[in-house]
Amino acid sequence: MSAATIALLGQPNSGKSTLFNALTGLRQHVGNWPGKTVEKKEGSFSYQGKEYDVADLPGSYSMSANSDEEVITRDFIASGKADVVCILADSSQLERSLFMLADYAGISVPCFLILNMADVAKDQGKKIDAPAIEKKLGIPVMLFSATDKNAYDQFYKTMERAIKEKSMLNVSALEQEYEKVDGYNEICGALADTVIPGYTPMWLTVKAMEQDKVVTAKLRNTLPDSIQKTVETLVKQSQGAIATGGCKFAWIDSILDGAVSESRTKVRLGKLDRIYTHKFWGKAAVILTVVLGLLASFIPALPVMALGMGVDAVNGMIRTALTDAGLSAFLTGLLCDVLIQSLSYVIKMLGFVFGVTLVFGLLEEVGVMARISYVFDNTMGRLGLQGKSVMPFLVSFGCTMGGAAGARVIDNWGQKVLTIALAWAIPCGAAWAVVPMLSTVWFGAGAPLVIVAILAVMVLHMWITSKVFGGSLVKKEDRCGMIMELPPYHKPKWGALFRYVLGRTKDTFFRVLKVVLLVSFVFWLLTFTKTGSMDNSILYRVGKFIEPVTKIFGLGWKTFMAFIASSIGKEGAIGVLSTIFTDHSMLTVGGTVAGGAVANINELLVANVAKPEALAFIFAITFNMPCIVALAATYQETHSAKWTAIIAVYYTLGALILACIAYHIGLLIF
Ligand code: GDP
Ligand code: MG
Repeated sequence: MSAATIALLGQPNSGKSTLFNALTGLRQHVGNWPGKTVEKKEGSFSYQGKEYDVADLPGSYSMSANSDEEVITRDFIASGKADVVCILADSSQLERSLFMLADYAGISVPCFLILNMADVAKDQGKKIDAPAIEKKLGIPVMLFSATDKNAYDQFYKTMERAIKEKSMLNVSALEQEYEKVDGYNEICGALADTVIPGYTPMWLTVKAMEQDKVVTAKLRNTLPDSIQKTVETLVKQSQGAIATGGCKFAWIDSILDGAVSESRTKVRLGKLDRIYTHKFWGKAAVILTVVLGLLASFIPALPVMALGMGVDAVNGMIRTALTDAGLSAFLTGLLCDVLIQSLSYVIKMLGFVFGVTLVFGLLEEVGVMARISYVFDNTMGRLGLQGKSVMPFLVSFGCTMGGAAGARVIDNWGQKVLTIALAWAIPCGAAWAVVPMLSTVWFGAGAPLVIVAILAVMVLHMWITSKVFGGSLVKKEDRCGMIMELPPYHKPKWGALFRYVLGRTKDTFFRVLKVVLLVSFVFWLLTFTKTGSMDNSILYRVGKFIEPVTKIFGLGWKTFMAFIASSIGKEGAIGVLSTIFTDHSMLTVGGTVAGGAVANINELLVANVAKPEALAFIFAITFNMPCIVALAATYQETHSAKWTAIIAVYYTLGALILACIAYHIGLLIF
């Protein structure tokens, strides 16, 4: 049994997740709210021998029912599941971020106020008198920096005080403001006897005046008809949200009056921001920043990738040793082709994930990510995304798993899933290694044309995919730009950043490894043969059997099997092709092929695969799902098996349709 449950409430970017992560470490569970496309984060921590539960509530700007996030947040709080609500505000822009507190006023759950980003406010030359604010509000108030390890002792004390005192927000000054508004007193009087648990009549009155959909519906069900009519007329006559909003800001002003002093005048745009906000150079600067970031992420990635290569080398030696020792082909295969091979696969990509999470985590932390959003919000908005999505897209040219990991910085779940779904259409590093080579083998000087066609299809694919999934993943109100103004730059907190990156990388490693092991094992079983001759394998028999169907997509059984193998990894396709065409003893999937083997099969490929089929095959593997590691990473980031499966099936079918189109175009040309 936990001593208390704390709910974190605050506008986006107020620091909820930073606080949540610091409190819970890896003792957290991320999922979705039942049936909703909204992320649910719960965790626990212990302090002085007591257990506490904590929930990171989805970001929203107010307590109105404008979005799923806001309704979920409101219902969670009003249901009494939390013993105390920790409201976060951004000290560097208190007037705006205290709006959440003003909107909370009237909900009957104890709360306390954390003025986060105290370090930023200090850098701006602001002095904030927390005790003075505390006196006016009647709840514990504290200046805080969620990124500062040393600030947590004080946080725990403030939290305990709020729990013990069951501190309630003093709303009398705010109510006095409301009472000045036409119609307020009458509506409040009419509602006085209505009880909706968790809310005071004042709060209900304000929401009724703001024509909040959920509250209006609730009142319609609870009020007697005559009173309900009166309320409706009064609401119509009132100035609604304009008037109540004015009251809230007036109240915030009165709270801050005398409690905040500013020694310096407003900071002007720095040199860097003048470039970022430039009409033309802004986009170029952002792309340059991301590309540099991408290159930088290779620095921490390389040693990890080298480790993966080391595993490969050891694997070869182990295989030889085991075969010499007379171990059965089955066990050797299981150990080398499934276990160790998967491990090396995951390690190689993990280096990139580590690098990307670190570099882009840093860019987020210092405030560069906000500039990226600012510059690309309009362009990405057309796809239903945020400006930040440009980053995972660029990363995906290197590695789709890195792109998926990079999508972590997108705080809207639906937009995150959509970003990853679109990123799958971007050919990754492995595709760029395989596809140009195959194009050259089959089309010689025509290869560049194939590449151009691939890029054009990529853009089209992303656009179509955004139309296909956008509707159900991204709601209309989220489709507008998010950034209203550029936040100040922050100094990075290296300790917190490294802890976060290492934690996430470790987490990714185990989760991804599990999926990769499972899928490789199944695939390996399908291709395993005792005698070593291909045509004993299940896959061969299935391939032969369904060839009439695969022919529709322009693929014979050989290229179709290579296509299936490319779902594991693009290199897998080459492995399968070389095995089949050189009639090699065994099918090694995902194994690296020596340059010699590839050179040998070139002529065989040209001789055995006609150009239309070759074209179909190239499009099929390019736009197939990127690889199982990317699949696993997608599952980890979206924590939705359903959406991961939908995207995977969509891409597999899409690749086959593209192959079919390419085949028929090929028939016309060649
Ligand atoms: P959320 O949207 O409320 O979950 O906010 P986040 O926890 O994601 O924080 C937004 C950004 O502010 C992140 O880049 C954090 O690293 C940064 N941040 C959070 N708290 C502080 C703080 O106290 N000081 C500074 N300088 N940065 C902070
Ligand atoms: Mg957050």
